[in-house]
Amino acid sequence: MEKRLRLAPSPTGLFHLGTARTALFNWLYAKKINGKFLIRIEDTDKVRSKSQYTKNILDGLKWLGLNWDEEPIKQSERISVYKKQIEKLLEIGAAYRCFTSEEEIAKLRAKQKEKGLPPKHDNRHRDLTREQIKSFISQGRTSVIRFKINEDIEIKWEDQIRGLITWKGKDLGGDLVLSRRALGYEIGDPLYNLAVVVDDNFMNITHVIRGEDHISNTAKQILIYKALNYKLPNFSHTPLILNNEGKKLSKRSSVTSIDEFKDMGYLPEAFVNYMAFLGWSPKNTDKEILSLEEISNFFDLPDINKAGAKFNWEKLNWINSQYIKKMDVIELHKIINKYWNKMGWVSPSFEWDLKLISLLKDSMVLLSDAIAQSKPFFLLPPIQKEGQDFLSISENKECLRYILNFLKEKKIENLNQDKAKEIINKISKDQCIKKGILMKSLRVAFFGSLSGPDLIQSWELFAENKSDIIRVGRCFTLP
Ligand code: GLU
Repeated sequence: MEKRLRLAPSPTGLFHLGTARTALFNWLYAKKINGKFLIRIEDTDKVRSKSQYTKNILDGLKWLGLNWDEEPIKQSERISVYKKQIEKLLEIGAAYRCFTSEEEIAKLRAKQKEKGLPPKHDNRHRDLTREQIKSFISQGRTSVIRFKINEDIEIKWEDQIRGLITWKGKDLGGDLVLSRRALGYEIGDPLYNLAVVVDDNFMNITHVIRGEDHISNTAKQILIYKALNYKLPNFSHTPLILNNEGKKLSKRSSVTSIDEFKDMGYLPEAFVNYMAFLGWSPKNTDKEILSLEEISNFFDLPDINKAGAKFNWEKLNWINSQYIKKMDVIELHKIINKYWNKMGWVSPSFEWDLKLISLLKDSMVLLSDAIAQSKPFFLLPPIQKEGQDFLSISENKECLRYILNFLKEKKIENLNQDKAKEIINKISKDQCIKKGILMKSLRVAFFGSLSGPDLIQSWELFAENKSDIIRVGRCFTLP
C-alpha cells in the first residue's frame, strides 16, 4: 500500500517554525519510506483564515525545499462532504443535537471552576426525544452536533515516537462538538476534529505526524475513525519547540515566522538542516552538516525525542556559517549582489565582486553579514579612535608616506597579492621597518581601525580602482 503523509496547516498566520518543523519531519519520513508528502489547507475558520497566509505557507515550504506530491486540498471546498459524514453519525446514533445555550455552558463552567474541576460538558441533551428536539427548534434555539464519548472507554494507540499512549474517555471534556451552532435542523460549519478525520481517510493518509499539543485530539479522532468505520493511520507526536528558558516558543516573544529567518540571512539548506536537529538526532553518524537527502536516510521516528526541543541560536548560526563557507562563490554572489544593489553600492567588476566574496565568506555567519563586512570596500570608513592613536605616532605615519610615494612613483598596474607582498618586503628592507608595523598602518588607512579581513587580499581589491592610494593619501589630509 502506498505510504501517504501530510502537513495540514491552518492559514491563520504566517508560516511559522513549529509548522515548518512538522512539515520537515513529515517530508523526511515520507522520503525515507518512499511515500508521498501532501498538503491540506485547514481553512474552515472563515474569520481567521486568509489566502495570503496560504500563499505564505506554500512559498515558505518551497523556499525550504519541502516539495509536495499532489495538488493541495482545501477544507473550505469540502464543507458538504463533512456535513454528510455528520449526518451519517447522527443516523447511526453516534452523534446528536445539543441545544445547550452559551449562557448555560457559562453557568456549567462557573460551577466546575468553583469546585476546581476542568471544563467538561455534562452531555445533558444526549437522549432528547424527537418532541423535545422539535420544541427546542420551535423556540428558535440553535444547536451544535455533539459526538458521544463513552466515559468508561480507554483509547490506546502505539505512538511511533512515544510508545503506547492511553487516554481515558472521561478526560476528553464530555461529548465532542463536531459543528458550529445552526438554526433549525441545519448542520453548522464542521469543526477541526471531524474534518481532519474525514480528510485523512479521504486522502488515504497512512501516517500522521504532528505536534504533541494534538495528543488529546488524536484520542478524540480515533473514536470518530471507529464510529465511521475508517482505517486508522499510524500516529506520531513530535516534541514542542522551546525557547532558552525552556518555555513554549511563542509568536509574541520570539522570532518564529520563517520569513523572519529568511530576512535575517539564513540559507534554506542550513535552516532545514538545523530544524531536523530540533528534537531529533541521527543514530549512525556524528555529522551535523547533512543535506535533506542524507537526513532522510538517517531519519527515523523512534529517534525523535519525547522531551521538548530547545531552540539553539548558536547551533543554527554555526550551521549557517558552515553552509556559507562551502557555498559556490557565484551562487553566493547572486544573493549578496542583491544586498549591494539595495544599498546602492557599485563595484568595479564582476571579478572584483567574486574576489571580495571569497575574502569575506569564511567569516560570515548570516548572509546579511555581507552588508557590514563589505561596507568598507565600497565606502571610505572613517578613522576610528584606535586608528587615530596609531597614526599619532609619527613613525607609524611615516610608514604610510613610504607606501604612498611608492604607489605614486611606480604607478603599478594590476597590483595583485604577490606584488603587494613584494612592496611590503621592499619598503621594510629599504627603510628598516618591521613588516608588521607597515601592515598595521596600511590597515588603519584602509579600514580606519586595527581589525579587518586579510590585508594583502584586501589591498588587491582596493588597488583595482586606485582606492588604495586614496585611502593612504587621506591619512595626510586628516584634520
Ligand atoms: N490544522 C492543524 C494545525 O495547524 C493540523 C493538525 C493536524 O495535523 O492534524 O495544528
